[in-house]
This record gives sequence, structure tokens and C-alpha cells, in this order.
Amino acid sequence: MEDVKNHITQLQQAFTQELAETHSLEALEGIRISYLGRQGKIAALMVQLKHATLEEKRILGPLLNTLKAACESALLTKKKQLEELMQSEATQQERYFDVTANIPANQQGSLHIYTHLIEQLENIFISMGFTIVDGPELETDYYNFEALNIPADHPARDLHDTFWLSNPGFLLRTHTSTVQIRSMQTIKPPLALFSTGRCYRNEATDATHEFMFMQGECLLVDTHVSIANVLATAQTFLQRFFEKEDLTIRVRPGYFPFVEPGFEIDASCPFCTQGCSVCKRTRWIELLGAGLVHPHVLQSCSIDPEKYRGFAFGFGLERLAMIKYNITDIRLFHSSKLSFLTQF
Ligand SMILES: [Zn+2]
Repeated sequence: MEDVKNHITQLQQAFTQELAETHSLEALEGIRISYLGRQGKIAALMVQLKHATLEEKRILGPLLNTLKAACESALLTKKKQLEELMQSEATQQERYFDVTANIPANQQGSLHIYTHLIEQLENIFISMGFTIVDGPELETDYYNFEALNIPADHPARDLHDTFWLSNPGFLLRTHTSTVQIRSMQTIKPPLALFSTGRCYRNEATDATHEFMFMQGECLLVDTHVSIANVLATAQTFLQRFFEKEDLTIRVRPGYFPFVEPGFEIDASCPFCTQGCSVCKRTRWIELLGAGLVHPHVLQSCSIDPEKYRGFAFGFGLERLAMIKYNITDIRLFHSSKLSFLTQF
């Protein structure tokens, strides 16, 4: 019996100590289960008591009941204390929150670089009196080649690594010049059109090549059109796009089947006067393919080449953007890399 009495005393001391060391409601609940739970330490003593003699029961019974009641009341008191403490801490925090604390900003969406570019380009061409037109990406042999003076046996077809569809005669357009034909069939001259759109070429990708890319292209048809017009328009466009009023251009001969004569237009480097890494120390950057619309092309759109002449020039959107924004890899345009995309 003395053993049980000692055990009760030890239990009481251990409980008091554990309670004093508790600082959270979770830990308090742990103590309650450990001592007062159905499988708890006091319950275990009660079970032991069943085997005691009547006299032992008369002495130990009240002792155990007192222990149980004392534990319950101490737990309740401690619980109240902890709750009050937490409440006052919460109030304290509310009162003294730090107005200068750095809270991570909400992540906001931004325009995709393509959207941003198309907006800039369209604004420039609209300001010069051009109308924006559009055309399909899925095209026919006729619009992509035939009507653009590239018949079936023309060697220039080899330059376009075409994605042909299993449906004969259908393809993914290899350039936006298809829009010239579609537009000239419905809009009669004089006309001034600008178009941007996706093009596809079946070639290996690397930092400067993609199988899907975007082109921009302008077309002007009127009765008195000369090379001077294309040069003035190209220079004005490039000056506005690179925001550089003293940008100059130079012309080199170039071959495109749908123009005659055809030439390539280089711009003076917008970033240097002595040569830099962007212009590869040459001070010039190759930017546009241009020319006067080939009479065959006008004819295929029922426009009289004796009466009308036209000019056109085109460019890759990615190339313009890569130069303007110092982008080193064309594959970034179609990537989902946020650090790249959020810059625009
Ligand atoms: Zn340069």
C-alpha cells in the first residue's frame, strides 16, 4: 500500500512539473491525455485498485480521486492562462505591426514580347498611312509560291524548307508575302498595307533559327512608285523603331523572285559609331529584304503593271527585337521563361 501511496505522490509531482514547463495548448492537451485519458496514468492506478483489499480501497480511493480532481482543476487553470497569454500576444502584434515591412509584391502579368512588338510596328506603319491586313497561316502552293513568281520548277523553292501537309498542294506558309496576293485580289490600288504573322520553315533550331517565327511586311501600290519611295519609307520606319533620328541606310543588291529589282537594306548601327559587338564591328546591320513588286505578281492579282507599280519590304520580327533589346537566343520568344517574358 505504501508503494501505491508513493506512486500517487510521484505522479502528482511529475504532473505539476510538466504543467509548469508547458507553453502551448497542444502540449497541454498531450499532458491531459497522458494523465487523465482513458489509457492514462491515473486510469492505470484505478485499475490496480480493483485488486486491493477493502481497507486499502477505503484509503487509496479518496487519495486517487483527490489526485484526479486536482489534476483536472490545474489543467483548467493552465489552459485559461495560456489562452489569455496568446490573446494578449495577438493584440500586441496587431498594435505594433511594421508598416515598413517588405511584403513580396503580387506577380502581375505583362505583355508578351510579340504583342509588344506588333503594337510598336503597327503604330509606326499606321502613322505612315498604311492599313493593317492579315492572312491565314495554312496556305496553298498558289499563294505561297505560284502567285509570287515562284513556279514549281523554280530553284528558289529550295530556299524555303517547306512544311507540306499530307493534303496535296497545302502547306504552312513560309513567308507573309502570301498576304500581299490575298490583299491585292480584293483591294484595288492605290493601296498601302502592312501585315505581321507567323511563318514556318522546316529547319533545325539554334540560337538564331526557329522553325516558327514572325515576319512583318509592307506593300505599297500606286501609279508613281519608285525606289526612292521604298528607301524613304524603310529609313523612316527604322528610325522610329530604333528611336534614332540620325539612323541611315545603305542598299545592296539582293534576290527575291517576287520583286524586280530586289535589294537588301542595311541600317547604320543604332548603338555605335566606331563598331561594336551588335554590328560585328562593321557599323552596319542587315535588316530588310526589299524591292519593286515584280510585274508577274501584279498580273497574278489582275493589276495592270503598265499602269501601276509597287514596292515591298519585309523583315523578321525576332531579328529586329533581338537587336533592339539585346536578346541572344531566338528560342526565348517561344519559351515560358518568366525572367525573360516579364521584361516587356
Ligand atoms: Zn555597332
